[in-house]
Amino acid sequence: MRFTRPWRTLEKRTADEWMRRWYGTKIYESTWKPALINKFGHYYDQVPMSWMWARLHARTFRLGYFEGGFNTFVERLASTVERRGAKIVYNTPVAKVEQVGGRWFVTTAEGEQGPFDQCLLTTSPQLTLKIAPQLARDAAEYAQQLANLKSIGALVLVVALRWPLMKNTYWLNLPAQSPNKEENEIPFLALVEHTNFVDKKFYGGDHLLYLGDYVPADHAYFQMSQAEIEELFLSKLIKFNPNFNRDWVRKTWLFRTSYAQPVPFVNHSQAIPDLQTPLQGLYCASMSQVYPWDRGTNFAVRMGREVGKLMGKERGDGRGEK
Ligand SMILES: Cc1cc2nc3c(=O)[nH]c(=O)nc-3n(C[C@H](O)[C@H](O)[C@H](O)COP(=O)(O)OP(=O)(O)OC[C@H]3O[C@@H](n4cnc5c(N)ncnc54)[C@H](O)[C@@H]3O)c2cc1C
Repeated sequence: MRFTRPWRTLEKRTADEWMRRWYGTKIYESTWKPALINKFGHYYDQVPMSWMWARLHARTFRLGYFEGGFNTFVERLASTVERRGAKIVYNTPVAKVEQVGGRWFVTTAEGEQGPFDQCLLTTSPQLTLKIAPQLARDAAEYAQQLANLKSIGALVLVVALRWPLMKNTYWLNLPAQSPNKEENEIPFLALVEHTNFVDKKFYGGDHLLYLGDYVPADHAYFQMSQAEIEELFLSKLIKFNPNFNRDWVRKTWLFRTSYAQPVPFVNHSQAIPDLQTPLQGLYCASMSQVYPWDRGTNFAVRMGREVGKLMGKERGDGRGEK
């Protein structure tokens, strides 16, 4: 399957149905089903086989990592575009974008700015609909496509330890037998010991763990305090090293986001909104439009280039072609 390209045929069937049939119930239940539950929770049996094909097709044994993390990449990107004349406004959420007389105006807590010829929204589909209410009014079909897109959230507890937890293990996916988290032995999906991959010298000598999970935005993990999440997650670490105790923990950081993993359904290619909206000068590009591949930074960069080309073409100045 890794070397074929039949994803348009495969998207007509769910991965649950396809894999159960071709791998047999026993193999499916013990390996693939837990992987699907881990990623999509209650949606696990609705995801198309094309998504699973893309995961296997794009897999390699090579793993890259930015020294200093993705922040290094983002900072380099920011300084490059600023050198070319772009202005980046930080910590200023956009509340609204509105087209008046064919030009775009952007409202933030600091007031209204504009006019702009073009506007690109890279937020989640649900937030995009809120920020650009004209879509629902003047481009109802497109707005409905955005509204139909589903996604789930994620949380990550990063833990700085004084001593290593695991020996020679970088990434452990913990099989979930049920989409109800409470029914699984381990309350998170991934246990990653990052410093078994990147040397601890880059992190002030800390051993870094990453305990992550995908959960819907209405899951209890979004209401629990950091202390409650810590208690629940850290209490399980003894299963991976019987010597572990809480004195090993130097510091923790909790990150939560309600939009983390888009969920594709059967025939998803027909459900994806175009990058160019029907409203002149307005574009939307988010990870929900990445398919059949799973969302990832490389696909975000590719989509950025694609939408840049479209915007350049509309302006007719050819700059987007570079
Ligand atoms: C737990 C997890 C692990 C991941 N691991 C990897 C990995 O190892 N490798 C990999 O390649 N990819 C990974 N990804 C995926 C990767 O993070 C995404 O594919 C990528 O960040 C998508 O880029 P984006 O620009 O579309 O969205 P984002 O990076 O989410 O950028 C959207 C931006 O919009 C801003 N924003 C939101 N609301 C507003 C507003 N109202 N006004 C203005 N700005 C706003 C946000 O602050 C954010 O900066 C991971 C994702 C998750 C959730």
